[in-house]
Amino acid sequence: MNKLILSTDNKNKILEIKEALQGLPLSIYAKSDYLTEKIDVDEKFDTLEENAKAKAEALKAYVKDAYILSDDTGLFIEALNGEPGVHSARYAKDHNDRANIDKVLDKLKGKDNRSAYFKTIFYLITPQGEERVIEGICPGQILKEIQGKETFGYDPIFQPQGKDFSFGQMTLEEKNQISHRGKALKALKKVFKELLIES
Ligand code: IMP
Repeated sequence: MNKLILSTDNKNKILEIKEALQGLPLSIYAKSDYLTEKIDVDEKFDTLEENAKAKAEALKAYVKDAYILSDDTGLFIEALNGEPGVHSARYAKDHNDRANIDKVLDKLKGKDNRSAYFKTIFYLITPQGEERVIEGICPGQILKEIQGKETFGYDPIFQPQGKDFSFGQMTLEEKNQISHRGKALKALKKVFKELLIES
């Protein structure tokens, strides 16, 4: 059976990826279920692609004969020249969703252009060393105030294009149908189908 090693130990992400790739001949492992070494990567780059690549390549030295997958996501706001972007998790304070939301709302005060998009990048390295970048984008608008539940990150202030409510007002299933992660996961499944048929 082909093995896929994830560069994350985040339980939600692991579940999501396992669900999305269900049915494919892949045994999927979280980083710390596969490796005893502690690997910390400084996400110091200016693009999601470079940060995801750094996370995947850090595993490469320890993983042989398996697929390696890393991911990185950011919220890009047009009127803020793409901020918070790669710094989305720690824009105001590290993983403090409310502080990060408040900073965005504050910086956008009085601005009419509320256009933004979420982008997820998956960086895949095959056992043969081939590298693939897979992306999912969800365009939308930043609301003027919080709407709905403070489920995750910027969910309650992000209204996806074509909807008149925020990610925070959707069920996870509804969100996954149109979200950046949902799209990236679908694209990832497609890539795996091709790779596994070829091998
Ligand atoms: P990560 O790369 O998936 O850890 O995402 C980085 C940061 O982007 C998170 O800590 C959140 O603040 C934000 N983020 C990523 N995905 C979403 C989402 O689906 N909704 C809201 N915020 C998100």
